Amino acid sequence: DIEVPESHPRYQSLLTRHRIEDGVEKGITSPQGLIAQGRGEAFDYLLGERTLPSVDRAERVAAAHLLRARHPVLSVNGNVAALVPDELVALAEATGAELEVNLFNRTDERIRAIVDHLQEHGAGAVKGTTADERIPGLDHERAKVDADGIYDADVVLVPLEDGDRAQALAEMGKTELVIDLNPLSRSPQTAAVPIIDNVIRALPNITTHAHDLADTSTEELTAIIDAFDPETVLTETERAIRTGGD
Ligand code: ATP
Ligand code: MG
Repeated sequence: DIEVPESHPRYQSLLTRHRIEDGVEKGITSPQGLIAQGRGEAFDYLLGERTLPSVDRAERVAAAHLLRARHPVLSVNGNVAALVPDELVALAEATGAELEVNLFNRTDERIRAIVDHLQEHGAGAVKGTTADERIPGLDHERAKVDADGIYDADVVLVPLEDGDRAQALAEMGKTELVIDLNPLSRSPQTAAVPIIDNVIRALPNITTHAHDLADTSTEELTAIIDAFDPETVLTETERAIRTGGD
């Protein structure tokens, strides 16, 4: 690990970058993951590297969805595994969600490396190795999911998902919670809950909301979910990027 002084003005951003580099070295993150990271950094810089108020509300709604779901699954790719393994385990525990490794550039080695990495960080069972079902409408490799995982899920949290897969999952009738720093990307635009935030901030904040909502009745969770308007998040984050304000 490279040492970054905490006093550095862009400490968090540099730390994030090093985690992705480590991920590539360990075979967890694909080289394309470096490009995705670069795009994310640019948007985060424009957003002021903060969680906007409308985004915090979306994160609370995401927690409500996960808590209310029959079968919630957190989809894990190579970037997220490298950046927030502990936070993924904590969110799974707080909501009763399962973890499933689901890769855009799928290789068995990389899936195995990510499962091992998550388990080193305290995860129990991790799905994604069986790959015995397919998401309709996608080509073979991109479509693979576990029959008793994402395929069966009613609510799926998909951080940094590509647009085609986000759309295909939505067409299967799943409630999608998408974390993506680009409000113009198709993935958040097809989401029931677009979370325009860095996964580094979003995951712990969703977990905090989940703890806060732990004793909330299904009726109240439904009221929180029904009051939410995804358009507001997309509009407010785009405006913040354009104007530099909230
Ligand atoms: P599509 O239209 O298919 O969605 P895309 O151009 O968005 O295509 P990618 O290159 O896979 O496809 O985009 C990666 C996305 O992930 C970008 O929108 C980027 O902002 C986002 N991203 C990268 N790092 C992070 C992060 N740490 N937290 C949240 N989002 C991130
Ligand atoms: Mg995208």
